[in-house]
Amino acid sequence: MNRPRPVVLAGPTAVGKGTISTYIRENFPQVWLSISATTRPPRPGEIDGRHYYFVTAEQFDDMVERGDMLEWALVHGRHRYGTPRHAVEQAVADGRTPLLEIDLQGARQVRASMPEALFVFLAPPSWEELIRRLIGRGTEGAEERRRRLETARVEMAAAEEFDVVIVNDDVRRAAEELVSLMRSQEP
Ligand code: 5GP
Repeated sequence: MNRPRPVVLAGPTAVGKGTISTYIRENFPQVWLSISATTRPPRPGEIDGRHYYFVTAEQFDDMVERGDMLEWALVHGRHRYGTPRHAVEQAVADGRTPLLEIDLQGARQVRASMPEALFVFLAPPSWEELIRRLIGRGTEGAEERRRRLETARVEMAAAEEFDVVIVNDDVRRAAEELVSLMRSQEP
């Protein structure tokens, strides 16, 4: 039987993964977007159960212990984020292609446990543009800038682990490319 392949979207910090998934949530409601659990507090306008499941550290621990997380990671050394396993498996069983927007550490875990997934790397239009997005107005000190540059260098090198690269030169264009890639994968 042909089952849909989950699609994993990852990429370097500040490349705009969140913006792409927001665009898809708002413009392509037919796409099955995984809803992650996170220990970070909601930002204004974020809705529990739509953007994330906002959980306590204890609830997150319980989910990990029960084996309910397909993958999880501590992102930027601050908050934990994870993909609830059951919903993704149910989507596949229902014949829908799940889209997971997660960080690089999470993508590697999915590669280990669901090697049949399609791995998409979201790349910046150029190295200079990524640096501009990361360092922004340059309010950080030299040490912080050096740390971010090093992070970007390591994260960009991960591109070769992925099946497909999509360049985030324009949010709408990149989102449309991703959605048509997902459609082309459907069994
Ligand atoms: P934000 O707090 O801005 O919504 O997300 C911060 C980072 O967490 C982004 O890089 C996003 O890709 C990542 N992230 C969101 N959900 C998950 C998840 O379920 N697992 C992992 N590993 N990373 C996630």
